[in-house]
Amino acid sequence: MFRIGLTGVAVALFATMFVASAQAQTAQRPLYAVTKVDGTDNVYIFRYQNHQAMFVVTKAGVIATDPISLRRPAAKAYIEEIGKITKAPIKYVIYSHSHYDHIAGGKPFKDLGATFIAQRNARERLAELKPADVVMPDQVVDKKKVIHLGGTTLELIYVGKNHSDSMLVMRLPKEKVIFTVDWIPLQSVQFRGMADTYFPDTIAGLKKVIAMDWEKLIPGHPGPDGRQIGTKQDARDHLAYLEDLSAAVKKAVDEGKSYADAEKDIKLPKYEKWGGYGPFLPMNIERLYDFYNRGI
Ligand SMILES: [Zn+2]
Repeated sequence: MFRIGLTGVAVALFATMFVASAQAQTAQRPLYAVTKVDGTDNVYIFRYQNHQAMFVVTKAGVIATDPISLRRPAAKAYIEEIGKITKAPIKYVIYSHSHYDHIAGGKPFKDLGATFIAQRNARERLAELKPADVVMPDQVVDKKKVIHLGGTTLELIYVGKNHSDSMLVMRLPKEKVIFTVDWIPLQSVQFRGMADTYFPDTIAGLKKVIAMDWEKLIPGHPGPDGRQIGTKQDARDHLAYLEDLSAAVKKAVDEGKSYADAEKDIKLPKYEKWGGYGPFLPMNIERLYDFYNRGI
């Protein structure tokens, strides 16, 4: 019991240190910024604090994604920044998945007449939970939907359950860019205890994404070094991490180890420089331990 208590305290401490160091690192950055994606004419990233969303500018209008405005006025800045680039109307807001930290606060976009789109399971979740500050999707995607606007094509693809049961992969085939959030982090382990994450579906989905034709990955958060765009190698590296984690935890469960011993004994030195390794690896281990030990 004593060790379990200490471990909990240590995890909390390390988590605090991790957050503090991330905050120190981001303290030099402006609160928000727009970055044009190199090699494209029309694809941008809107970052606010440590969340980011993609938007695409066409002559016929703008396709925006996640409002990233939970308990903060990011949407206002997001709309003002779009207005500095184009006077074309914002036609769409597309939700990456159902989690509020990415999709809350879209009302200013709705007031401008944007159509909101999400995966069907996201709309069902939102209809059940009724979060106060989340605009309900007007349209849903089951497996795939393609948006054509002003000469730009954007595919909205559902590859199955991963980090939520409502994750879309948004792919710009001409620009070879994808935007998908939280489940393919750049050089980081999975966040905390992998809440709302389905396993092994995540691995199957990641293989589908790697097989798609694209060159740049825009994730929902910059990497630990502030990098905002990833490559296919980042996706392959994350797949390797999940496979290595999975194999190590399965072995520990097969050997009859306890949660505590699995968390103490499993080290994945290949990833020790990754974001979140110290505080979150034990929590990632616990998530996989449940999967192999009890099938949950
Ligand atoms: Zn999420």
